[in-house]
Amino acid sequence: RAKQRGRNTYHFFDPSHDRQLQVRFEQRQRFLEAIRNDELRLFYQPQVDMGSGRVVGVEALIRWQHPEEGLLSPAQFLPTIEATPLEVDLGEWVLEHAMRQLENWQERGIMLPVSVNISPAHLLIEDFSDRIARLLERHPKVLPAMLKLEVLETAAMHDIQAALATMARCQQLGVNFAIDDFGTGFSSLTHLRQLPVDLIKIDQSFVRDMLSDRDDMAIVESVIYMANRFQRPMLAEGVETLDHAKALMGLGCRLAQGYGIARPMSADLLPEWLQRWPKRSDWRALAREEVD
Ligand code: C2E
Ligand code: MG
Ligand code: MG
Ligand code: MG
Repeated sequence: RAKQRGRNTYHFFDPSHDRQLQVRFEQRQRFLEAIRNDELRLFYQPQVDMGSGRVVGVEALIRWQHPEEGLLSPAQFLPTIEATPLEVDLGEWVLEHAMRQLENWQERGIMLPVSVNISPAHLLIEDFSDRIARLLERHPKVLPAMLKLEVLETAAMHDIQAALATMARCQQLGVNFAIDDFGTGFSSLTHLRQLPVDLIKIDQSFVRDMLSDRDDMAIVESVIYMANRFQRPMLAEGVETLDHAKALMGLGCRLAQGYGIARPMSADLLPEWLQRWPKRSDWRALAREEVD
């Protein structure tokens, strides 16, 4: 056997390929260390109802506080762990820490649901819903409905039956689901009917250019129209300006998240932001227009 493997290795030997594998392996080892050394951080980005100004929740977003390279964003390290067991390790870390944060805020009177991004590999492990059940048991003070799981439209599609079954079991536990990056997958509209989701998140790539790109505007319009027809709440991601906000409200979408409202921030900055937000006159004016 060993001999055969040796021969195969020889057969496929390619020094540059070998080096790439080595680099990947080292990056993954390093990420595992990051989890163990407590180098990961969760940042939180507020989600608001533009019509009332109410803050409806926050999304937890992973960062890596690398001792040499500084604060790394997901795009800088998620690709190296994609489709490896580390993705599940990360997911478990994020869930546990989001729950601790929920508990902490709750003790201080801040009652905001937290959304957590769940990778496809994580959602589709066999005992995912049991893990969620145990997570909730470990944090009995947190209401299950305060936890929202964000699943990519494409993720659920790998194995639609398994995904639907898992999502249904989690919902029985009281946990909510959001479908993330909606519009980027195939045949989105049929999925809308099938997926038991409580929130549809319109992908930021369409929102960003909706005011200048007619195709993107058409997608945003259609998603909002369909979501309203199916009576599913929807949220627009990537709301960077008041013009975006006005256009979205005009189309019938009130929930929003984006740099124009707030950038993702560390947990300790959130209470201060919550104090400041109601005083922002530009957004208050927008809310008033809606009420009038
Ligand atoms: P996502 O879940 O769609 O999260 C939204 C991303 O858009 C975040 O990027 C956020 O910072 C960014 N964003 C928010 N508002 C604006 C805006 O107005 N303009 C622009 N240009 N960008 C905006 P981030 O934090 O870099 O995360 C990127 C992606 O990485 C996330 O996309 C999500 O798919 C993934 N991710 C983040 N945290 C986690 C995690 O804990 N676990 C997993 N599995 N994936 C994560
Ligand atoms: Mg998300
Ligand atoms: Mg998204
Ligand atoms: Mg995204």
